Order: sequence, then C-alpha cells, then structure tokens
Amino acid sequence: MRIVVVSGKGGAGKTTFSVILSILLSKEVDIELIDSDVEEPNSNLFLNSALESASVYRKIPRLNSEICTGCGKCADICAYNSVVMVKQKPLIFTDLCHSCGGCVEVCPVNALTEADDKYGEIGSGTSGNMMFKEGRIDVGKIQSPMLIKELLADKSSDRVQIVDAPPGTACNTVQALYGADFALIVAEPTPFGTSDFKLIHELTRVMNIDSAVVVNKDEGYSKDFYKLCESLEVPVLAAVAFDEKLSQYYSVGNLKGYLENEDITSYKGAVDGLKSLIMSEKKNG
Ligand code: SF4
Ligand code: SF4
Repeated sequence: MRIVVVSGKGGAGKTTFSVILSILLSKEVDIELIDSDVEEPNSNLFLNSALESASVYRKIPRLNSEICTGCGKCADICAYNSVVMVKQKPLIFTDLCHSCGGCVEVCPVNALTEADDKYGEIGSGTSGNMMFKEGRIDVGKIQSPMLIKELLADKSSDRVQIVDAPPGTACNTVQALYGADFALIVAEPTPFGTSDFKLIHELTRVMNIDSAVVVNKDEGYSKDFYKLCESLEVPVLAAVAFDEKLSQYYSVGNLKGYLENEDITSYKGAVDGLKSLIMSEKKNG
C-alpha cells in the first residue's frame, strides 16, 4: 500500500508529518518512508540513516559529425523538437530529449549512438525497523519527474510505503501521486493555506485518489477551514497546534527526541486513522 503525503505549498509541515507518522507507525506496521521531494530531500536529516547511493542514468543521443550526411531524418522523427538541423548538421538539445531512441534508430549511417547521462541519485538505508529511500536530482538537471518515476517504480514491497511528495500541484507532485492508494494532505488553516489546500485537494480529486487532512498549526481560529473540509467530504484525521518545543527539536534535526520526550497525543488521530486505513486495505487484499 502506498500513502502519499502532499501539501499545496512548501513549509506546511509535510516532511515533518511524513517523518513523525512514519516513525510512530513503524512501531506496529512495516514501513518504508520514501522522500520523493527530489529537489530538496530533507527527511534523512531527521533519520540520519547511512545511505547506499546508486547513480541514475538516462540515454541521450551522441553525434559523430564526421560520418553524419546531414539527411535530417533524426530531426524529422523527434517528437520533442530536441533535434534541429542547422546548416545541414543536427543540433541536439539534450535537456529536451525524452530518451526514446528514435533518432538513433533512424540514422541511416549510424552517426548517432546512445550515451549515458547521469541525472540523479537514489539512496537507500534503514532507520530503526523502518526502511528509507530518497531521490536526489543532480544540480542543474531538469529530469525531476523522471527521477521520481524511477524512485517510485517498485510498488511490490510488503511494507506500507509512505511517500513524502514534492510540494505544490505541478509535474513533480503529479508524478509522486501516480500509483497512490491514498493521499494525506497537510494543510495550515490560514487563508493562504486554505487556498493551497483547495488546489491540492482538487488535484487528488481529478486523479481519483481518496484523501484525508491533517491540520498543522491550528490555533483554534479556523472554523471556515473545517467547514470547507466538511463540504468537500474530506475527513480531518488530526489537528496539531503550533508547538514551540517541536520548533526547538526541529531546528536541531531531532524529531526522534521530540517523539520520545514530549506530549504527542495530538498526532494520535492521524496515526490511528492511517492504521485503520492500512488494516482495511490489508483485509480487502
Ligand atoms: S532520443 Fe528521442 S527524444 Fe531524444 S533526441 Fe532522439 S528522437 Fe528526440
Ligand atoms: S539521421 Fe544521421 S546522418 Fe541523418 S542528419 Fe541525423 S545524424 Fe546525420
């Protein structure tokens, strides 16, 4: 089963909730936490897991201009306009390349070959009895959705996968939500947070993914937010007030210490809600 933790914007508390809920759930359920926020993977700052890293490559065409005849077939076949003919020579924009291999295939004189292009890393390790994985895009590379797809390709694990998704509602988040069984939306009940919540909820709705909300930094002034959740029929699993102690632990990367030493009863609703979701999924096969 895969639960994807999302938020309509950065800073709503998505990574904090992903890590806290994964640690708490891992006491009773086999969990694999996956940080798919590949442009800024931060979960492991709280776990300190020693990661084994593997480089991730894609195929791009490489030109041998000495044997190219300038026929233009490579440019004709490229559906992504990654190849343009300039003075009868192909100019290849590798950032636009989708690695389909078409240009290499059609070149009549084998002037194009496929070359490896490294664009990121996937790290994996353990933290307590929890498994952990993260994707990390190389600086300057634009293949984040491709890396997220690679990172989340394996859904066969017996463990419940909790995916910390990239923030927002654009391509990276959409990619992280593919294959989700459930979306947990982290939202702040401010006017700004409510606006972002509407966007991310709409995304889960159009992708046909059931969702629930955990409300972060609820100071009790937010009745309209709860009315909105009710009208959208999105259950609220937990509401957590701003906690200065959490900020202190967070600022030194010690969420585990927070969970061990402080009152965390406000997270109970979210843990129980996810646990019953996991159990009903297991029961239904
Ligand atoms: S591999 Fe495919 S996408 Fe890339 S340049 Fe060639 S035809 Fe275009
Ligand atoms: S298809 Fe081959 S020979 Fe023709 S322009 Fe492209 S690289 Fe050159």
